[in-house]
Amino acid sequence: MDKLNIISKMIDSGLKNTKPRVNIIDLLEKSDSLLTAQDIYDSLKESGVKVNLSTVYRSLDKLTENNILNKVSLESEKQTLYEYNREIHHHFLVCKSCNKVKSIYSCPLDNYELELEKKTNFVITGHKIEFYGYCKECQKKLKNSGHLV
Ligand SMILES: [Zn+2]
Ligand SMILES: [Zn+2]
Repeated sequence: MDKLNIISKMIDSGLKNTKPRVNIIDLLEKSDSLLTAQDIYDSLKESGVKVNLSTVYRSLDKLTENNILNKVSLESEKQTLYEYNREIHHHFLVCKSCNKVKSIYSCPLDNYELELEKKTNFVITGHKIEFYGYCKECQKKLKNSGHLV
């Protein structure tokens, strides 16, 4: 998504298209893993954007309120993570070594939910799944150091 699309998305949501907001959306839309507020701040600073941490926090609140971003809290993570809201049901892959979290946009549970509703007379409104393991980079590191065979 280019920046013009981001700006028009913000206008549609009735949000002011301030520079930090556009940069945050741009960063998260391109990122292949979820980021913390600190990650976002560091990465914006690195790319030469002048912004302070409290602005990042305020922008993140505003963008989550307006459903442009998702705020994600996982069982295993102490920190709150943010991702671009693609409005698709999805789950998470969590690396136990580097703590990176990635989204996977597929779900094997549709039929199972229906089955479960029939079996239990329970109306199911949602579910969460987190998969744990080691990302590609960490697998290499762990193999080299003999910790993973
Ligand atoms: Zn990893
Ligand atoms: Zn699912």
